[in-house]
Amino acid sequence: MNQNNPQLSLESRIVQIGVGRDERTGAISFPIYPSATYRHPAVGESTGFDYTRSGNPTRQVLEQGLATLEGGERALTFGSGMAALTTLFLHFASGDHLVVSEDLYGGTYRVLDQIFAKLGLSASYVDTSNTEAVEAALTPNTRAILVETPGNPLLGVADLRALGELCRRRGLLFIVDNTFLTPVLQRPLEFGADVVIHSATKYLGGHSDLCAGVLVAREAQLGERLYFLQNSTGAILPPQDCWLLIRSLKTLSLRMERHCANALQVARWLKTHPKVGAVYYPGLEDHPGHQLSRQQAKGFGGMLSFRVDSPQTARQVLKSLRMISFAESLGGVESLMTLPAVQTHGDIPEAERLRLGICESLLRLSVGIESADDIIADLEQALA
Ligand SMILES: *Cc1c(COP(=O)(O)O)cnc(C)c1O
Repeated sequence: MNQNNPQLSLESRIVQIGVGRDERTGAISFPIYPSATYRHPAVGESTGFDYTRSGNPTRQVLEQGLATLEGGERALTFGSGMAALTTLFLHFASGDHLVVSEDLYGGTYRVLDQIFAKLGLSASYVDTSNTEAVEAALTPNTRAILVETPGNPLLGVADLRALGELCRRRGLLFIVDNTFLTPVLQRPLEFGADVVIHSATKYLGGHSDLCAGVLVAREAQLGERLYFLQNSTGAILPPQDCWLLIRSLKTLSLRMERHCANALQVARWLKTHPKVGAVYYPGLEDHPGHQLSRQQAKGFGGMLSFRVDSPQTARQVLKSLRMISFAESLGGVESLMTLPAVQTHGDIPEAERLRLGICESLLRLSVGIESADDIIADLEQALA
């Protein structure tokens, strides 16, 4: 199968997901199998598919493709990124402790703080771009480290190799949320991560028309355990959405190339604007994570944040945008801008948000694949 052929580049394997897998018809686009259940040939025999929560042909092709992309043994797809994270957190027990990036997706903070905390799973939030700070936060009950790198919304970069080694030394599970860079740009399992998570709603889907989540386990045993949790609790991705995600993945490497090129151009332009203060983009030479990003990623991605001179200016920009949409989410082909303090990070207590620097003059831009000149022109008129 081309999608698993190690002699092919990652770019080719992505395009080949599902090609030739439907042997009966030779379909290039792997079909959608909506069937909820499957005929058994005889008692004790199975076609390999029994019931669609437990397994579905369209989902299987997608999951095998995703496992190859991240370099893991097993991938599982979910109805959303939060469903993937929730299923992963169910792996832990009451009394366990996690060390988590403080520069974190707001929904991940919310599910830990308002749901799993009640079940006895505690978490400490630290600056995971500082490996010593991570080590200092470990307790005898710590079971895992969860990092987002680059972080959200301030794009801090964690040292994947150092954290991978720390986890191995201390017997901890190393979990990386790879939503921002995707396996085209960063493959955390190669640095010792045990599990990669994605909100496939973002770059993997890439068109703001799909909500999906992914877990990829480096080793088969953990993959089996996560499959058990998913099959038991049921947060699967439906076959129609699996098909759409397969279709979307085929252009992932092209899209990421353009996202990176556009984001760098926009970041450089923003730096020259008189109403703009700090610009956070790992591709800028003065970003503290720039060198590290070069070592562990093939590109800097399409996400950036910047500060404007006042909360009023931030609100005016959002109101004046013409092409760029003021909307939550990220990673679509269309440029999207948000105000993290109010939107994506609104559930983080104010004092904590301000300590992190997520104030109301901070804007986050998901740079799309339109012409960079048009994106810049829209920002220019909105800032005027
Ligand atoms: C959006 C997002 C999530 C949550 O995913 P959903 O698909 O919205 O449930 C998790 N992590 C990161 C980094 C995200 O951007």
